[in-house]
Amino acid sequence: MTHSMAEKLPEVRASTGNCRFCGAPLRHVFVDLGMSPPCESYISFEQLNHVEPFYPLCAYVCEQCCLVQLQDYISPQEIFSHYAYFSSYSTSWLTHAKDYVAMITRRLGLSAGSRVVEIASNDGYLLQYFKERGIPCLGIEPAANVAEAAKTKGIPTHVAFFGRETAQRLRDDVGPADLLLGNNVLAHVPAINDFVGGMKILLAPGGTITMEFPHMARLIEGNQFDTIYHEHFSYLSLGVVEKIFAHHGLNVFDVDEIWTHGGSLRIYASHSGPEEPAKTKNFLAVRADEEARQLNRLTGYAGFASQVVETKFQILDCLIALRRKGKAIAGYGAPGKGNTLLNYCGIRTDMLDYTVDRNPFKHNKYLPGTHIPIYPPEKIAETKPDYVFILPWNFKDEIVKQLAFIREWGGKFIVPIPQVEVIG
Ligand SMILES: [Zn+2]
Repeated sequence: MTHSMAEKLPEVRASTGNCRFCGAPLRHVFVDLGMSPPCESYISFEQLNHVEPFYPLCAYVCEQCCLVQLQDYISPQEIFSHYAYFSSYSTSWLTHAKDYVAMITRRLGLSAGSRVVEIASNDGYLLQYFKERGIPCLGIEPAANVAEAAKTKGIPTHVAFFGRETAQRLRDDVGPADLLLGNNVLAHVPAINDFVGGMKILLAPGGTITMEFPHMARLIEGNQFDTIYHEHFSYLSLGVVEKIFAHHGLNVFDVDEIWTHGGSLRIYASHSGPEEPAKTKNFLAVRADEEARQLNRLTGYAGFASQVVETKFQILDCLIALRRKGKAIAGYGAPGKGNTLLNYCGIRTDMLDYTVDRNPFKHNKYLPGTHIPIYPPEKIAETKPDYVFILPWNFKDEIVKQLAFIREWGGKFIVPIPQVEVIG
């Protein structure tokens, strides 16, 4: 989708605070999705008539550094100390991890004499592949229950939130890291300066950092407003990350564009200084593309808010028209992003009868805010809905294939993002 450059950013309507990187006052709204409950707080039958906390889901863009960010209403301790997400449940994510380990081992020439440290190592889904190759590794993971799962796989895991203090302690006790990596963690830390400052401390001289995070350019282009939720404190471009790293004495020099989470970046960084690697062709191309999209100034962020409102209207038009014809509509999936979309659009059981999910932790629970019930996937074959509304749209091809049997009774799919699409 394109948007008019002449369009202005929406006005700020609440007290906002300061940019978590550069400290400038936040004066510009990127998009305001209203009030929303924390997206991983699935609720039980008993909790249905209790009060639920809702927090503002409003993303700001900093006029100084262009970092798009939420304010931190919920602490990472509340969100991540006892996390229900185990990376090893996702087969495609495991394949992604395995491929990465093969690639980076070759590229850096890692061996039994190297040390790999992963920040937010979850259940050891990735480090297990370094262990297989006999490369010493250490995980850092704040959720004690998830870290326990890694330890039973024989992967040493330090239970802590990462920052300068943890980095200094590990450097003293274990030594610095030749490869320091973190996937989908940079966007999840409120204290981004303490986090990147910690990486500077833990990285060995001549060592390499790699980090993966969803790409801001894809978020705007793909209308992915539902990837905004309270657990994601920052929304990152290559240009912004380069700036943050440089401030802490780290040099981002290369980048891969990868398919995960609707389009992500994997960056490569080293210590800054005379020995630093030169910026690669890939790096320069991605940064030039961001500049062409004006992501290095406020104008690149204008127009997204009205694009989001238009998408909401389209989704509601579609669902209301089908409901007026008496059609049965079921959801597929109960991902965090689904909760942003459903709460923002005001979709409840009036429009979506129920949803299903493969994760047994979510069965017989209800979605936060909208209270849509969650069942095992078999429910779809039992009730034969006319339409299946796909919430994790980034896996739509996989899901359409898996549920091909709904065509036996004339069932169709609805994909809400980037634009409403009905697949027959
Ligand atoms: Zn800033």
